[in-house]
This record gives sequence, C-alpha cells and structure tokens, in this order.
Amino acid sequence: MDYFDLHCDTIYELSGYGVYRKTRGTLRENGGQLDLARTARYAHYAQVFALFCGAAPIETEEEAHVRFTHLLQTAQNAFASCSDVLVHCRTADDFLSAEQEGKAAAFLSIEGAELLQSEADIQAAIDAGVRIVTLAWNHRSRYGCGAASDNDAGLTEAGIRLVQRLSAHGIFPDVSHLSERGFWDLMECCSAPVLATHSNSRAVCPHLRNLTDAQFTAIVQRGGLVGINLYVPFLTRKKHADVSDILRHIEHFCALGGEENLCIGADWDGCDRLPDGIGDVTGMERLAEALARHGYSDTQIRNLMYDNAKRFVTANF
Ligand SMILES: [Zn+2]
Repeated sequence: MDYFDLHCDTIYELSGYGVYRKTRGTLRENGGQLDLARTARYAHYAQVFALFCGAAPIETEEEAHVRFTHLLQTAQNAFASCSDVLVHCRTADDFLSAEQEGKAAAFLSIEGAELLQSEADIQAAIDAGVRIVTLAWNHRSRYGCGAASDNDAGLTEAGIRLVQRLSAHGIFPDVSHLSERGFWDLMECCSAPVLATHSNSRAVCPHLRNLTDAQFTAIVQRGGLVGINLYVPFLTRKKHADVSDILRHIEHFCALGGEENLCIGADWDGCDRLPDGIGDVTGMERLAEALARHGYSDTQIRNLMYDNAKRFVTANF
C-alpha cells in the first residue's frame, strides 16, 4: 500500500532535543516509531518531517536561532545520508519524480512559528524549502496564541505579517496547535488553502487540540487538508484507544463532506500513547485493513492513506 503522512517529530528525536526515544539511531534505523527500514514496506511513501520548536518556551531570538539551525541541520544531514532511498522534495515535480523512482518523498515543515524570529531565519526557512508552518505551538508567542494557552486570543500583527510573507513564498499555514480565535484570524487574513496536519474532531473527542465542525468545514471549503492524529488523548477520553476510535473521527469528518480532504498526520515520535495494535509506522496497514472491514472502498482507503495528500501537493506545491 501507499502511505502519505503529514506530521512526525522524528527529526526532533534525532536532533538530541527529543524526549521519548530510548534507543537513539538514525533516520534509516532507530528505536523510535518511524524509520526508513520500516517504511520500506510501503510501495510509495511520503512524509512531512516537522522541525518542532520544543515544549520549553523560547525566551530569546538567539535561542530560537540556535534551535532552528540545529533542527534544520539535523534534517538536512539525515536526508543527505539516506539519499539512496529518500528525496527531499520542495515542489510537486520533486514529489512526482521521487514517486516514480520509488524513493521516499520527504517534505519539511515547522511546528511552532516561534522558531523563526529573525528576518535571517525566516529567509533561511524559505531557502531550505520549508512548505508548511504551524503558526503557534501550545504557548503564546510573538505570532499568536496556541490552543493550550487561550482560545480567545488569536494572531498578533506580527503573526498576520508572517502568514502573508510565507504565503507569498508558497508556504502553507498549518492550524494544528493554533487557538480557535487564531484559526478565524487566519481565515480572514489569508486566502490560501489551510492545513491541520495533525488534529482530530472535537465533536468526537472534546480536546482543545481538535477541530470543531465549523473549523473542519471551513478547511474543506478552502480545499485544505486535515491529518488524523493517533495520539490517544486526541482520539478518546478513555485511557486506551483502538482502531475503532480512529474510525469514529474518520467517519465524522467524512459525514461533514471531507472525504477528499482527509489524510493521516499520525504524529510519529511526537506521542507516547498510541492505539492498541498500532505500535509504530507499520501500523497503518492495520488501519487500512480495519477500514476495509468496515466497508470503505479501495478508493476511499487510497484517498485517505495517500491520494488526498498527493492531490494537494501536486495542485499546490
Ligand atoms: Zn504537534
């Protein structure tokens, strides 16, 4: 099967900043939830690799610069050392040739715009081929407010300017982690398609990190994408989740007309609690099997697992 995933924190773990990984390793092979040895089972595989700002608040511009530079260097080194099986993609053409060669297609995103504080670092992200930026992580930053801080505070003037600057360079805004007010500020100041790379349905699981029906519908109307997140607290309020909990979010979003806007943003290496039966990136096969058992057609499964994200990339990147 083919698999296109919108969000993982594997680079953060490889950078040495990580918190979860017990066995360190490389992008090719490691003890975490995702490596290229395991994704080789997928006939075609594409992954958006996030440069995550980190859970500790960034205090100074210099600190942001040091973190951003180290994360970018980690990603570039990891991609270069796997160039026999992986291509760093910036454009639709890069993606299509990686697909044709049967290599993994890797894109770069930034999780937490507070990582980009100086003009030089914003320019470095553009030059490095970053294509997606989450505007806030959970904290309040100079650009706006995260979902865990205050849902009534939105984007700042600087945040609006950043969105417009990035949009002019073909970099798409990611609303995962953004406050609800920030989401609607963004919809007002930017006309581009919007992504929520790793967020679920708040109607199914009432967590601040999940999307309301109105938010999801607005993303669909823009031709955007939403990636289903496998972190247990975003799937259910129960202690444990299984595949049926993932299916409930997919069903709900499909019922809202999002069948062609839905994909996976599993959050590999960014979450320590996954649904039973899904221990790592190989578990997507189990999700596809469950969807087939529940009557989803081959086309519907392909759309969710790969084609919807592929269509977005080929139309927009
Ligand atoms: Zn995240």
